[in-house]
Amino acid sequence: MKQNKFEEYQLSNEIIEALTMLGYTTPTQIQERVIPYALENKDIVAKSKTGSGKTAAFAIPLCEMVVWDEKLAQALVLEPTRELTNQVKEEIFNIGRKKRLKVCAIFGGFPIDKQVITLKQKANILVGTPGRVLDHLRRGTLKTDKIKYLIIDEADLMMDMGFIDDVKQIISYLNNRQVTMLFSATMGENIKNLADHYLTNPIEIMIESNT
Ligand code: ADP
Ligand code: MG
Repeated sequence: MKQNKFEEYQLSNEIIEALTMLGYTTPTQIQERVIPYALENKDIVAKSKTGSGKTAAFAIPLCEMVVWDEKLAQALVLEPTRELTNQVKEEIFNIGRKKRLKVCAIFGGFPIDKQVITLKQKANILVGTPGRVLDHLRRGTLKTDKIKYLIIDEADLMMDMGFIDDVKQIISYLNNRQVTMLFSATMGENIKNLADHYLTNPIEIMIESNT
C-alpha cells in the first residue's frame, strides 16, 4: 500500500513530500480526474463545486511540469480577486516548495511600479487578477516568451465580475501558450463558449457530487 495515494501519479518525490507536509494524502475527485490529463499537457475544462480542491488539481501538475532553472515565468494563473490570488499563490508555493519554485502574485490596488521591480526577478509561476496582468502586458513589464501554461480559475466568478474581455485580451499576448485549463464551480453557456473558443480538444471533467 502506498503511504500517499498521490504516489500513483507520475509525480516527483519533491512534490509528494510537499503534499505529505500539507496533509494531502488522498486526491479529491476533481484532482483524481484532472492530474493524469494535465501531466500529459491536455487542455482541460473542469467543473466541481467550491471547496472540492480545484486549486491543487492544477497546482500539482503545474509544479511538477514547470522547471526551476528558468528565469522567465512558464505559467500564468488568472484569479478574479486579490484574496483568491493570494490564497492560490500560497497553495502553489506550498506544493512547489521542495523544488524551490518562485511564485509571484500580481494584483491591483497599489502602485504598479513596485510590481515592475518584482517582475524583473525570477518567477516560475505567476498568479494574478486580469486587470493588473493586462496592465503589465500593455506596458511590456511582463514577459510572455516562456509562458506555456494558462489557467483560467474560477471562470464563473470571472464572468460575473466582468473580466472576460480582459481575459481574452490577455490570451492574445500569450504567443507561446501550449496548454490551457479552465476551472469553474458552475458551467453556463458563456463558459462553454469561452472553452470552445480558446481550448483545443479539451478533456471535459464535470464532477456533480459533493466530495
Ligand atoms: P476549490 O477551488 O475547488 O473551491 P480549494 O482548492 O480552495 O477548492 O480547496 C479547498 C480546501 O481543500 C483547501 O483548504 C485545501 O487546502 C483543501 N484540499 C485540497 N486538496 C486536498 C487534499 N487532496 N487533501 C486534503 N485537503 C485538500
Ligand atoms: Mg478555487
